[in-house]
Amino acid sequence: MWAGYTWGSHVLTLASIWRGRRGERAVALTFDDGPDPEHTPRVLDILGRHGIHGAFFLIGERTRRAPDVVRRIAAEGHDLGNHTWSHRSLWLCGPSETVRQVERGHAAIAETAGRAPRFFRPPWGLTNLALFPVLRRLTTPCVFWSVQPEGRRAVPAARQVEASARRVGPGAILDLHDADGVAGAGARLVEGLPTLIEALRGRGYALVPLRDLL
Ligand SMILES: [Zn+2]
Repeated sequence: MWAGYTWGSHVLTLASIWRGRRGERAVALTFDDGPDPEHTPRVLDILGRHGIHGAFFLIGERTRRAPDVVRRIAAEGHDLGNHTWSHRSLWLCGPSETVRQVERGHAAIAETAGRAPRFFRPPWGLTNLALFPVLRRLTTPCVFWSVQPEGRRAVPAARQVEASARRVGPGAILDLHDADGVAGAGARLVEGLPTLIEALRGRGYALVPLRDLL
């Protein structure tokens, strides 16, 4: 029964967004797990210096704790995404807790930023069958990624840059982390992001907002 509820959503997961249009040499930078009061502002500084708009998939609880950072993300024209209320694995959430995780995260971001999140991304990319109806109701499509330089284990900044530059293709969605899930993730991103931007541009990629890539 539980396997059907979790793995049964696999078809809907596969039908979700994993990358953008392949026609142009363009990619989008996306950032999960923030806002982080220390690292997210540094990331915003770097993006601002390079004239890039990213997409920030925010955790509701963290949004409540760092509202000024979220207002800055919105004011500087980045896309907002919902990354649930408290970053629980949806494989461990029943239907009502799933709806609560999505709705509470959505409301926290909308109330803080003054505009509703445009996208949704589930923690660790794990979905269940209760997720997709609530996303449809909130009109926030589920967006995954095509390149994830750091997943569940720490990867040094230089290696993340090297792997990303090697693996991107037209339409790629890069999944980066501006706050800790894995310890030190935010600091490694701040360290590697300028080089990553240069490496991608050096390969002829335009770094476009997620809303434009899709
Ligand atoms: Zn996450």
